[in-house]
Amino acid sequence: MLGSTGSIGTQTLEIVRAEPDRYRISALGVASSVDAVLEQAVEFRPEVVAVAHRSCAEQLRGRLPAGTDLWVGADALAAAATCAETVVNAVVGFAGLPVTLATLQAGRRLALANKESLIAAGPVVQRAWATPGAELIPVDSEHCAIHQCLRADGVSGKVGPSDRVAEIVLTASGGPFRGRTRRELSDVTVQDALAHPTWSMGPKITIDSSTLMNKGLEVIEAHELFGIDLDRITVVIHPQSIVHSMVSYSDGATLAQLSLPDMRLCIGYALAFPDRTVRPYGAIDWSEPSLLEFHPPDHDAFRCLGLAYEAGRAAETAPAWLSAANEVAVDAFLAGALRWVDIAEVVEAVMQQWPGDLATDSEAVLDIDRRARVVARDLVDKRAG
Ligand code: NAD
Ligand code: MG
Repeated sequence: MLGSTGSIGTQTLEIVRAEPDRYRISALGVASSVDAVLEQAVEFRPEVVAVAHRSCAEQLRGRLPAGTDLWVGADALAAAATCAETVVNAVVGFAGLPVTLATLQAGRRLALANKESLIAAGPVVQRAWATPGAELIPVDSEHCAIHQCLRADGVSGKVGPSDRVAEIVLTASGGPFRGRTRRELSDVTVQDALAHPTWSMGPKITIDSSTLMNKGLEVIEAHELFGIDLDRITVVIHPQSIVHSMVSYSDGATLAQLSLPDMRLCIGYALAFPDRTVRPYGAIDWSEPSLLEFHPPDHDAFRCLGLAYEAGRAAETAPAWLSAANEVAVDAFLAGALRWVDIAEVVEAVMQQWPGDLATDSEAVLDIDRRARVVARDLVDKRAG
């Protein structure tokens, strides 16, 4: 369980706690949350605790339970990825890439919450995924839904022409600013943006949900996971977050997966596949009245969605360049150094400077990520100053 102290991490540990005969934690990995991971280690007794930030290691040394080793440093989480049959990658941002690659290259199952690694390094991750034994099961709720809708029609893995899939429909709650115009969004605060109406998540993805960048990244994620063209991936705003996504087939039938917004269903699905968890998460009480709405997205107010489609179409290192620019802009917004409306402005300005590099290998992707951050920080500083 890498990224064990975050929103996805702690929910994964709840599932493990609920089915102790089925799951055992062999490694926990975090950036720097020493006290939280110590508590987890005492409860779950893993063989390894991996901590990315060296400066935090001293606080853990000598405090872990007997039988738990401490691995420290930038490569520690990726090394820990080979300790288990299944790795849940719930690290946030591009920093999750080494875990994604190490898991697939070791031929293990990757339960992937860290969408940024797949989006930024699509071609590189695809090669790692081809390793014998490697499996990639999405944890992201929309992709978990699509996985289920495809499976219901007998489609496993990438969608081929004979599968008769017409379209993938990704649903989005619309976030806290749904229905507002561009003008009405000029002075929203960090607190406003963190108040997601239907999901409780870590700060980065919550801000991405408020700008619809999260949905844009998920369009690219769906393309990478299911091999379907961007032109056949549609986004629809669904404020209730009950329909988690849909697949339309050539005969006009649309299949959807419905449940209450609860990530434990998706995490449990990725762990148990092809089986399911024995207890329900997010089950709907169908005896209660309910209403489901669907609206097209407002591309003018939420420009990040269109920027992500453009990056996805440009392919190669364009998604990495976009995702890195977005991480910098979101960090700056969370730190109070950038207005919410400027997140899209910064990403767009950085995109105009994409150098067009090919995603030949992970070095090329790491390099493009580093360069995009320099360009983005420069733009953020200019706006702040
Ligand atoms: P979070 O901020 O709550 O937790 C992040 C975890 O990653 C923490 O345990 C932290 O210690 C670790 N981490 C952060 N930076 C790291 C680094 N540089 N190296 C190693 N570890 C690091 O985030 P979250 O909301 O749980 O999201 C995790 C991932 O799952 C993200 O990619 C997000 O997009 C995706 N996701 C989350 C949700 C959700 O409901 N929270 C839903 C769908 C997808
Ligand atoms: Mg999602």
